[in-house]
Amino acid sequence: MDKAIAVENITVLGATGSIGVSTLDVCARHPERYRLFALTANSSVVELAAQVAQHKPRYAVLRDPQAAAQLVTLLKEQGLHDTEVLSGDEGLNAVASHVEVDTVMAAIVGAAGLAPTMVAVESGKKVLLANKEALVMAGGLFMEAVKKSGSVLLPIDSEHNAIFQCMPSQSQQGQGSHPLAASGIRKILLTGSGGPFRQTPLEQLATVTPDQACAHPNWSMGRKISVDSATMMNKGLEFIEACWLFNAQPEDIEIVIHPQSIIHSMVEYVDGSVLAQLGNPDMRTPIAHALAWPERIASGVASLDIITTATLDFEAPDYQRFPCLELAVQAVKTGKTAMVVLNAANEVAVEAFLNQQIRFTDIPVIIRSVLASAQLVEPSTLAVVQLADQQARDLAQQQVANRACA
Ligand code: NAD
Ligand code: MG
Repeated sequence: MDKAIAVENITVLGATGSIGVSTLDVCARHPERYRLFALTANSSVVELAAQVAQHKPRYAVLRDPQAAAQLVTLLKEQGLHDTEVLSGDEGLNAVASHVEVDTVMAAIVGAAGLAPTMVAVESGKKVLLANKEALVMAGGLFMEAVKKSGSVLLPIDSEHNAIFQCMPSQSQQGQGSHPLAASGIRKILLTGSGGPFRQTPLEQLATVTPDQACAHPNWSMGRKISVDSATMMNKGLEFIEACWLFNAQPEDIEIVIHPQSIIHSMVEYVDGSVLAQLGNPDMRTPIAHALAWPERIASGVASLDIITTATLDFEAPDYQRFPCLELAVQAVKTGKTAMVVLNAANEVAVEAFLNQQIRFTDIPVIIRSVLASAQLVEPSTLAVVQLADQQARDLAQQQVANRACA
């Protein structure tokens, strides 16, 4: 006889995004296990209304109050009276910490995800972390809060989820404080595809368009992370994320280019064993893994056809082609608020590139310049982190304005 499983109430922060939609897909495959309790978005009224109609959550939250008012009207018109609409940061925080919520999927993009994700951690929820920027900005405070509240933190980023899967249970349960050496781990091999411009002639990078940058060869993702993948800042942010999640030092992690995105990362042990996690590049695998951990559930992902895959290639990263990678690795070594500044300047530069205000190759130039002029302090509280974030954004905006006029 099947063991009875209590239904888990889930809040999805960023439900209308790429990770959010995949999360809803996996949860809907297992209605006996998961109930979508709250769905949130920034301002996507129509998309959120459609999700409410399908999943009937208790709460729907739009951060933008005007959009939330429109959602109220739309839900009324459609006769959807059972979902309560909330708005603003208070709305996000309320569903991240609601007493009936068991699990929070943190899938807001960028620094905007930090505060509600922290609230979920402080409330002791199981937190499925896609929002890597939260960890990049406030990794120390974040991991401290995890320990204090007893929250369970599970990585959704495919590489970190792979590394987690390749680790023994004492490391999995160590929540970022178990020493790698105590598990016999020699190093972490963090893989990345190299994105759409891995082989583009260097002189063409200055003229690539946002659509070209967002056309990732293997993954379908939101536009910000797609540009980060094209600059390889995404791998840089993931390098920082891995340091916090796995209690690793920069020298414990090797970045490896693996263009096929079939191996999602590896862990090497002192006896020479290298464990890898493989699968089709579909985020529903890490999402299903983290939702059900330590059990396994179906995700809807097609079986890996290893024969057709045939070839797995590996190469060293090209730091000249991808200066953002070096800036990120350097920011970990610099410490203090360097990672906050790196992340903030990157967010501003990526948005400016997507809005066609600056060139693709301006992104690392702006980040480097902001890092050189920002005052670095110890990120001792969330308020300090948020102030450093704002100051770095202001500096980056000035740089964008200078370049846009040039
Ligand atoms: P996306 O742009 O597709 O979706 C972002 C979601 O966040 C949307 O629901 C949007 O409404 C919401 N949002 C945006 N700004 C907000 C704000 N200011 N306040 C509240 N909500 C806001 O992004 P995505 O690709 O799903 O990525 C989400 C996060 O997951 C990112 O941190 C990304 O780095 C990480 N991630 C994504 C993938 C992927 O395959 N897409 C893989 C690994 C990690
Ligand atoms: Mg990733």
